[in-house]
Formats: sequence, C-alpha cells, structure tokens
Amino acid sequence: MEGIKMVDLNGLMNRIRPELDHAIKRVLDSERFIGGEEVEGFSKELKSALCLHEGKTMEGLSDDVFIVPCANGTDALQIALMALGIGPGDEVITPAFTFISTVEVIALLGAKAVLVDVQADTFNIDCHAVEKAITEKTKAIIPVHLFGQCADMGALMAISNKTGIPIIEDTAQSLLSTYCDDQGRSGRAGLFGAFGTTSFFPSKNLGCLGDGGALFTRDRNLAQTAKSITNHGGLKRYHHDRVGLNSRLDAVQAAVLRVKLPHLKTHISQRQKAADIYDDLLKNVDEVVIPVRDEKSSHVFNQYTIKLEGEVRDELARGLAEDGVPTSVYYPKGIHEQKAFEELGYKTGEFPITEKLSKTVLSLPMHTELSSAQQKYIVARLVSRLSEIKGEV
Ligand SMILES: *Cc1c(COP(=O)(O)O)cnc(C)c1O
Repeated sequence: MEGIKMVDLNGLMNRIRPELDHAIKRVLDSERFIGGEEVEGFSKELKSALCLHEGKTMEGLSDDVFIVPCANGTDALQIALMALGIGPGDEVITPAFTFISTVEVIALLGAKAVLVDVQADTFNIDCHAVEKAITEKTKAIIPVHLFGQCADMGALMAISNKTGIPIIEDTAQSLLSTYCDDQGRSGRAGLFGAFGTTSFFPSKNLGCLGDGGALFTRDRNLAQTAKSITNHGGLKRYHHDRVGLNSRLDAVQAAVLRVKLPHLKTHISQRQKAADIYDDLLKNVDEVVIPVRDEKSSHVFNQYTIKLEGEVRDELARGLAEDGVPTSVYYPKGIHEQKAFEELGYKTGEFPITEKLSKTVLSLPMHTELSSAQQKYIVARLVSRLSEIKGEV
C-alpha cells in the first residue's frame, strides 16, 4: 500500500483550500501583516472554543480567560516564565520525558530545570515526584500534557494551592483536551494553571502554515505583562516597561488558524476514531501495549503511541519503514541524557521510567486523513514484522 504518511497536512489542507485561499487573500489586501484584525479575531474565537465546556470547574478559578498570541510554542513557555519573573537562582520543575522546549526556556532564563520522572501508563508527569522535588527555590512547575492527554491537574493544583507555586501547562499537544477530576470538576487543558501555553506548529492538532503560538491565563495582570513581553516589553509604541521579545503571531497565520479552528472538533474526532480503530486492531497483539486512556482526561491524539516490550522497537520501525509505514519515536532520549543538559548533572538511571519509555515507545501514523484500510495494513505489517523478529531471536 502506498502513500501512508505519519502526518498528512496536504490532505487536510486540500479539503479546505478555497477557504484558506480566501483568508490569505484577505490578509494580502489588508496590508496589515503583524497584529491587527485577524489576530484579534482569532484570539476571540480561540477563547470561545476553549471556554465552551460543560460541567463545573475547579474552585477559585476566575471566569475570565485571556489569550495572548505569540510567535511559537517555545516562546509562549518563555514568556510565561518571564511574566512570572523567573530567572537566575530559581528552580522550575518539569518532566524528563518531554520535548526539549519545555526545558530549554528555563535554561535560557538562567533558572535551573529540576527534572522529575513520568508515569509509565499515561506518559505524564508524576505528581508524587513533583512534591518531593519542591524546595524553597521552586518558582514554577511546568507539566506537559503529552500526546493529547492532560496531566493530573487536580493533584497539581492541590500542590500549587498548598505551596503558592504557579503552574504553567504546556498544552502544545493537547489543545481542547478536557480534564475532569473524581469529583466531577472539569476544565480545558491550559486553563487551570497561572498560564497555559500552546503551539500552532504545522503538525499540531491546530497547525498554521509556519510558526505560531499562544498563552492562556485567567489573570488580567499576567495577561497584560505577557502581552507586553511579546511586543518589546511595551503596550504603547516606543514606551518600554520591561525587557521583552519580538514574538508576535503574523496576520496571515491568524487568518489561516481562523479557517482551521471551526474544524478542530471534527479533526479531533477523526483522530479519536482512528485511535479506536488502532485500539481494536492491536488489542490482541501480545507484544503491544496500546495507549492508556486516562479516566480523568479526554484524549485528542496528537500522537498514537504504543509501547513494545523487549528491545524490538528499533528493528520493528526499520521493518515497517521498508513496508511503507512511517513511524516516529517521541522521544528517543530523556532530557537528562541530552548533551545540552549535561550540566544539570543527572545520571543515567535517575529517571527509570523515562529511560524505559525512550527505548520502548513508538508513534504510529496519526492524522485526519487515515483510512481504515490503511490502518489495517499498518497493523497487519506490524504483526508480521513482530513475528519475524521473534522468530529470529
Ligand atoms: C511542539 C511543542 C512545543 C514547541 O512548540 P513550537 O511552536 O515548535 O515552538 C513545546 N512543547 C511541546 C510539548 C511540544 O510538543
């Protein structure tokens, strides 16, 4: 079978191509390329999409939600840390099993990243480990809602409320995912902590045609501070209150996002449907552990990530590639094993779950255009390659 893609951006874009062309033309005609109507319109529409959820939310959270668009998801994390005043001498707790951005921004600000392990089943931050890692220098906690599911925000908010340490939720992979605790209090990923951040990198669930990102907060003052940081530290032109960045969302990206946002729920259900099909096809394959659905979170499946017992993962991935089935490993190394973070002084063996996951996880093709025939082929090849590998050992 030909043409199976890990991510199929063209397929999706082609379906909404006339709308995209129209939106891009609107920006060309407007001569407003940075900020302006498109960015403001998108911010309002994203806010509505985020705030539309049923059920009661957690106590103490205000009804206000402010959206601050910026240039990318990495900047969004950095801006959140800057708005909270984090710098040299401060510690920020974050998982060892994550994309590099989360940790990079802590280092860039001269603060110290304190890594903790994750849970083997959900891949999300281990909240007990977070509690143990807190010192008087801890100034923020950055959980990452990995692959499409929320970290345990109930437990994290309890820690935050008890200690006063703010939380920044990295929502780059889990936009519109919903968390619900065992008392039925629910809310969207990114709207619990002091800040939520997200990315509109093309392969994210809501991707644009380049880089883009945003911060969410319920705190008006933090929103103002974050907004000024995105624009050279000032809200009024040529008046600078603080050292900031140049980190703005382009009008053309905002216009594209305004076309895609109304389809996001449908795109998420297409991903969820594909995940159900994989689950069904893979549930009786002995060697494969299918993704655990956390009962406290919906799953928006930015990735469909299986685990393979034994050391078969790399050989399987090579075999599948020969069969025309692309796969990816998110992530092949824990942050503590990255050269860039040698200085943190962690050793191999310190985060056993992260290390095990980095050797066993495999993400299968996941996007809105997958057909069930493709999925059947993918799983058939996977089963056959696995039995070949087993036959050899
Ligand atoms: C993609 C991603 C980011 C970074 O987003 P960019 O827009 O590429 O800067 C940060 N954190 C996580 C978990 C991501 O997946």
